[in-house]
Amino acid sequence: MLLFDRKRVFGVPVNIVNLDKILDTITYLIEKDSKGNNIMAVNAEKIMYAQKNQFLLKCLENSSFLIPDGAGATVALKVIHSIKTERIPGADLMLNICRLSAEKGYKIFIYGAKEEVNKKAVEKLKESFPNINIVGRSNGYVSSEDMDSLIKQINDSKTQVLFVALGSPKQEIWISKYLSRLNVNICQGIGGTLDTIAGNVKRAPVFFRKTGTEWIYRLIKQPQRIKRHIKIWHFIIKVIKIWLIKKITHIPISTS
Ligand code: UDP
Repeated sequence: MLLFDRKRVFGVPVNIVNLDKILDTITYLIEKDSKGNNIMAVNAEKIMYAQKNQFLLKCLENSSFLIPDGAGATVALKVIHSIKTERIPGADLMLNICRLSAEKGYKIFIYGAKEEVNKKAVEKLKESFPNINIVGRSNGYVSSEDMDSLIKQINDSKTQVLFVALGSPKQEIWISKYLSRLNVNICQGIGGTLDTIAGNVKRAPVFFRKTGTEWIYRLIKQPQRIKRHIKIWHFIIKVIKIWLIKKITHIPISTS
């Protein structure tokens, strides 16, 4: 079921949506006990990766929500389709779902990251949202032999919301593989968000977040991620090329 309008950025779909609408839709889906809805984040890096990786593209195509997580996605939507849409960082959406769940009493399960990070993040979430109902957790280093027992643990917990923090594309692949066996209403891939909640990776200061340049901050802090940043530069060059062609020729370009 397509919940929101989608537009393509270099062949990769992104929802045209805002945070309030997503939260209302999540509430509606949980209240009517609709199973197997998933949220994946789309950013410049993932758009470049999905162009080369058909399996990741298929995972994204089949996702219920494709949030414009990075400034790359929102700027490209503006340049290519002349559509202005709100940027919804996955980490912000996760915290909003936690707040909503604490208010409504929805159950949450948190899967992913190293054991100490996962544990600390759960403690921090309980401090931030005293009414939060975290019914289970697991670190993200479960072997394939133990996957059946993790699925059972998640289903036995009767959780309604599942957060998966395995990084990309691992989490998208995991969600696509196992979601049909899970009795959850909402499943969100949250990348490295547990590391920032636990406090061992600092989230970018407000300036970087507001200007959509969180990735520059991450590059400075984690230079070992340089390979991943090359994809972002390729993306920026592609978008600038389209912007220039449109500016010079005034021809509407439809890139898919
Ligand atoms: N991770 C995991 N299991 C794995 C591989 C990674 O739980 O098999 C976790 C890792 O500990 C980290 C997160 O996934 O917490 C990856 O974070 P990263 O910042 O690389 O993700 P991104 O947001 O860039 O996709």
